[in-house]
Order: sequence, then structure tokens, then C-alpha cells
Amino acid sequence: LFVDAPLQAGARVALDRGQANYLLNVLRLRDGEAVLVFNGRDGEWRAEVSVEGRKAADLVCRERTREQGPASAIVYAFAPLKHARLDYMVQKAVEMGAGVLQPILTRRTQASRVNLERMRSNVIEAAEQCGILSIPEVREELSLERFLKDLDPEHLVVFCDEDAPVSNPVQALAKLGNNQAGLVVIVGPEGGFTDQERALVAAHERCVCVSLGPRILRADTAAVAALAIVQSVLGD
Ligand code: SAM
Repeated sequence: LFVDAPLQAGARVALDRGQANYLLNVLRLRDGEAVLVFNGRDGEWRAEVSVEGRKAADLVCRERTREQGPASAIVYAFAPLKHARLDYMVQKAVEMGAGVLQPILTRRTQASRVNLERMRSNVIEAAEQCGILSIPEVREELSLERFLKDLDPEHLVVFCDEDAPVSNPVQALAKLGNNQAGLVVIVGPEGGFTDQERALVAAHERCVCVSLGPRILRADTAAVAALAIVQSVLGD
């Protein structure tokens, strides 16, 4: 369970109504029973439920069960999709190891505005579900141009392009070795990138354009495929 409070031995964490309801009525935990909590900074802790009334509960931290490891540095840059598809893509990106979620606005991006709060709560839910202890960062949307302009030239951009010659992406990436100063995976919108956008990305100093196979994948499928390959070849 994610709690936004400092975690240390003996610390008492007040739960909000939703969290108390989840522990007391969904998990049906009783006073003194334990749950594992994390806050994205202090590792994972075993904490005991301290019932404070019919609908209220606190948690009391007892001992750390996992150290806080390094967060993933993989930046997943993507053209935001609409509502449920975006929720799904954000969850899969977290499960597949993205450490930063960077919405990029391209000419054919469907969603003009991005609900960052909704994305952040999806990220937390995905982190709880897949058992990571860090909370991937959700950044403000940027135009593709702005994003590339601000990007460290040392960062390697893995550009997923369905028009790239079909080749084995694992081999294409394995040649690079994993001494990446920083790693960015870019997936485009349902309508694809324009040729100008392709040229913009290709102009980045360190850019490898990969095909994810001969079939055209939906953007959320491409997210899973691309991050799985990148993690397996270049992951930390
Ligand atoms: N241009 C595509 C079409 O003709 O339908 C639409 C783009 S596709 C739905 C969304 C994004 O997923 C693309 O911009 C690309 O980043 C990625 N993608 C989809 N299939 C891919 C493939 N076979 N290889 C590499 N990237 C792919």
C-alpha cells in the first residue's frame, strides 16, 4: 500500500478514509494485523493496523522489509491517448519498467490536454500492483520539438517506428551496450508520426530507430513491446 508519509520504526501513519476502508472492509484486516507499505523513498515497511473506530485506522511501522533500490531511469515518451486507453498505457509502462512518463504532443496526438493527476494516481496504483518501491515521475506534457530540444544529447533515444525496416530490435539494441547516460523510448500516436517528426527525432545525436516487427501495433501494445525489449537488452 502506498502512503504519502515518512516511514521509520515506530512511525504512526494516519490513513485517509479510502485507505482505511480498503484495509478494514476489503482486506478485512483486524487490529494488530500487518500490511506492507511504501512511500517511494524509505523502502518497504511492515506496518500494523491500529483500528481507531468503525471507519478509521492508523498504521504503526514496525520493521523495514525491503531497502529502497534505485529507481528506473528509463524515460517513456509517448503521445497521450484518450482516457481508458491512456490509463492502460500508463499502467503497462510502469509495469514494464519506465521510471519517467513524458507525454509528448505531436501533430496527430489525439488528446490535446493531459490529466496529470489521473496519470499520477494510475502510476501509484500500478506501482502498488507490480511491487516496485519507487513512484515513476509523471512530467508535464511537452511538444515533441521542445522535448528533443531540452534532451541531453548523451541520452540514447530508442525511436519506435513502424516504417523502420523490419529487423531484429534486440540485435539492433544489443550492439549499443548498456552504458547509457540516459535512455528514452519514444512511441507515437495512433495516427503515427509525420515525416517531419521522424526527421526531428532522427536528428538527435544518439538515436536508434527500431522496428517492433512487421505488424502495426496499437500505441499501448507498442509501449509494452518496446519497453520489454529495452529492459531485456539495456535494462539496469
Ligand atoms: N502509422 C501507423 C498506421 O499506419 O496505422 C499508426 C501508428 S501506431 C498505431 C502507433 C505507434 O506505435 C507508432 O507511432 C510507433 O511508435 C509504434 N509502433 C506501432 N507498430 C510498430 C512497429 N511494428 N514497429 C515499431 N513501432 C511501432
